[in-house]
Amino acid sequence: MGLLQTTLSAIYPPRCLGCGETVDSDFGLCGTCWGETSFIGGTSCDSCGTPLPGEAADDVAQCDSCMRAPKPWAHGRAALAYRGMGRTLVLRLKHGDRQEIARPAAMWMHMCVQPLITDKTLIAPVPLHWLRLVKRRYNQSALIARHLSNLTGCDWCADLLERPRRTPSLDGKNRDERAALLDGAIQLNPRRRHRIAGRQILLVDDVMTTGATLASCTDACHANGADQVCVTVLARAMKDI
Ligand SMILES: [Zn+2]
Ligand SMILES: [Zn+2]
Repeated sequence: MGLLQTTLSAIYPPRCLGCGETVDSDFGLCGTCWGETSFIGGTSCDSCGTPLPGEAADDVAQCDSCMRAPKPWAHGRAALAYRGMGRTLVLRLKHGDRQEIARPAAMWMHMCVQPLITDKTLIAPVPLHWLRLVKRRYNQSALIARHLSNLTGCDWCADLLERPRRTPSLDGKNRDERAALLDGAIQLNPRRRHRIAGRQILLVDDVMTTGATLASCTDACHANGADQVCVTVLARAMKDI
């Protein structure tokens, strides 16, 4: 540890991201908050990251929902379940100006997406409409994408995709309503057209509910020459847990 870091940690000792208690290492959770965080390990759906019962098998597994209505992307990974501390961390990162959560989020997501990374991977965040970006001052998915780029060594492009039209909140909307609201809402940024051809795009978002937003982003990538699209989210929201 350098002198500056030693001095800084004496003045600002590392704090748990969940409860604010002092912890041993930076960017972590205390034992109690760690225990309240549902990390997704073991067998999970290859498309949406939902945990599945049973032992990890060599076969690629999919949940019922993804088998009924296949996702347009190739593979999907989620680090946490969107409940308990997982939900708290997402909400703080998104609405609570707790931007420091993006780095550990990227570290947890990195562990899940490592097998999907290739030398053609280009990381891109799900975009916000510019008015929402002005209001919030940052795109939480872009913060995670930047850290994920540092951890993987992959290129990233903060504004590969854009959301030219304002879409209302998707909260409380069902799958069909979400898809209708998002139809054509996300497009390739025309100034980034040269970056997408032949690449494997890794889309990054904070939370996946039905996956409608990520599907809209995936369609925009496929329509503009991406070779393959994978997705990763910090937390997967699931109805049945
Ligand atoms: Zn804690
Ligand atoms: Zn699934």
